[in-house]
Amino acid sequence: MSVVQFDSVSKRYGREIAADSVSLSIPANRTTAIIGPSGSGKSTLLQMINGMVRPDSGGVRVFDAPVDYAELPALRRKIGYAVQGIGLFPHWNVGRNIAILAEMSGWDEARRRDRVRELMALVELPEHYEARHPHELSGGEMQRVGLCRAMMLDPPLFLLDEPFGALDPLTRGEVHREFERIREAGRRTIVLVTHDLHEAQKLADEIVVVNEGRVEQQAETRTILAQPANDFVAGFFRAYEESR
Ligand code: ADP
Repeated sequence: MSVVQFDSVSKRYGREIAADSVSLSIPANRTTAIIGPSGSGKSTLLQMINGMVRPDSGGVRVFDAPVDYAELPALRRKIGYAVQGIGLFPHWNVGRNIAILAEMSGWDEARRRDRVRELMALVELPEHYEARHPHELSGGEMQRVGLCRAMMLDPPLFLLDEPFGALDPLTRGEVHREFERIREAGRRTIVLVTHDLHEAQKLADEIVVVNEGRVEQQAETRTILAQPANDFVAGFFRAYEESR
């Protein structure tokens, strides 16, 4: 079963082609990594899933229905979205930053507080951080707050755009382990954008390689390295290995 389907989707920005007739299915209850060079259209694909970007042509289906651009808030309540350097509200404390979607959905305060504490424990943020403001957090802690916010309503679908990008290697390892725990805490579909092949290999069941707005290959993580579909994919993997 697939949770997201792109059917011949194209999107241009002026002369830049961000998506070039993309057809793609994202399987349910698995982690799919979208990898490719910078500017290849990874974020655009992700943002077409939650309707932040509307295709020029072609169709995007999410949860078995075409994206309804008149009803995006309802769709977004079912989609957790975390992006690198996610805009935490600087004048709100951590607790409120995490709880914002629940607040907008009318949860009462006690229910919000319980959920915030549960999530902070999951990502190992000490409880008293709830009262801190974003400027009192390290980069890694901010990323964790962003992940908590994305998880607040326990959505069945997560979109993560380079969520570990700004982290130093040590913190990144820690947050990766938390990611694994989150994944194990319930069945969910995760779409992870990264330019880091190693990260994709470590975290994803399936990998989609994009280049210049086109899907070059989609395959199981455990087979893709051994079976690149074309010269671009083989060259991308090789360049990655050589740069390490
Ligand atoms: P990636 O995530 O792989 O780095 P993006 O999806 O962000 O790639 O961008 C794909 C292409 O579309 C790039 O050439 C980028 O410059 C262009 N692009 C993306 N968003 C915009 C925008 N809002 N306005 C103009 N060009 C954009």
